[in-house]
Amino acid sequence: MSQDLAINGGPKTISKTFNWPIYDEQEVNAVAAIVQSGKWGNPDCGDEVEKFEKEFAAYCGSKYAITCVNGSVSLRLALIACGVKPGDEVIVPPYTFITTASSVIECNCVPVFVDIDPDTYNISPAAIEAAITDRTKVIIPVHFGGLSCDMDAIMEIANRHGLKVIEDAAHGHGAEYKGKKLGSIGHVGSFSFQSSKNLTSGEGGIVITDDDELYAMMHSLRNVGRIEGGQWYDHYNPGCNYRITQMQAVLLSAQLKRLEEQTKKRNENGLYLNELLTNVKGITPLSRSEYITLHCYHIYIFKYDAEHFGGLPKNEFAEMLAAEGVPSFRGYPHPLYKQPLFQNKNWMCYAIPETADYSQTFCPVAEQACATDAVWILQHAMLGEKEDMEGFVRAILKIQEAVS
Ligand SMILES: *Cc1c(COP(=O)(O)O)cnc(C)c1O
Repeated sequence: MSQDLAINGGPKTISKTFNWPIYDEQEVNAVAAIVQSGKWGNPDCGDEVEKFEKEFAAYCGSKYAITCVNGSVSLRLALIACGVKPGDEVIVPPYTFITTASSVIECNCVPVFVDIDPDTYNISPAAIEAAITDRTKVIIPVHFGGLSCDMDAIMEIANRHGLKVIEDAAHGHGAEYKGKKLGSIGHVGSFSFQSSKNLTSGEGGIVITDDDELYAMMHSLRNVGRIEGGQWYDHYNPGCNYRITQMQAVLLSAQLKRLEEQTKKRNENGLYLNELLTNVKGITPLSRSEYITLHCYHIYIFKYDAEHFGGLPKNEFAEMLAAEGVPSFRGYPHPLYKQPLFQNKNWMCYAIPETADYSQTFCPVAEQACATDAVWILQHAMLGEKEDMEGFVRAILKIQEAVS
């Protein structure tokens, strides 16, 4: 194989490093000021957390926002507030991060995996409809990579069946569907601020909603079951301490100021990369409908066809691409239902019904995405310049030439 490939010691196509997170003295000064104030958290916490929650809710066009420790607990808060009971079913996609489904287990409920659409890698509305039973209570669509799900179709199905929709928007900060911010369309929107995400404070999460009752319950569950206006040592609901610190809140407020511009930049780069890749055989970007008014490209995903790369397996291609200096990755190795958690049924203290059995679960599109098709370019690379997008394509063509 070609000595010219970076993986074999040849020169890298891209020598630049793509930094993340992006910050300057605004973040440093904001955190330093909190440290020096001595007001780091609850009680006596000052009001930076509430201030950020108001900013984020306003940014998303939602009435309320409630921060919490991460984007997994945020899903749990949303599920409990939606009123799930032990044994209820929650419809989730299999092509997502584990906690989209494990948060369901933590509520003693049954994740029901339905397949994704081959053109978008988002949960298929037709497959949702087919999976609904009289135990179904909630649908969790994941806006995978920051590409919006078909929310009109999903909300129509949910409303017709009386189901709640929790948008897992952990990849979707700032992205839009028909001009609406992701997370603001379903009953609850859930976000992560973990360090890889498009808005980050290292760790953290948030839920947004327009619903007064869901707000009050999620706020209580986040704060050890306390209620607004209640006494400090009076606890009404089975929550926990999921609060964030003031340092995280000021970091998030500073990062939020950068989000819209960063999102637009990724969106433009994504559109440009789509255009450049139309001429590359064996590489097909996921499709975006005209309803995607803003895509935040937490992950830029394309489908790889080994036939046009001399039969080179996807995982080897992805390693070569990363070696060429493109921040990229093969993505999930398996659909979620293949995880030992689901195959071995190690439910521990959780009361999951015997009927929950994943040994026969098979979602062909998700299987193919994991095994042979999906390649991810990561969000910080999508903050590069136009010439970087051209470099990504040069790297792909270099590999193609070397292996064909
Ligand atoms: C990151 C992520 C989460 C979990 O967020 P954490 O803050 O890491 O707990 C949930 N869902 C999806 C789709 C994610 O990518």
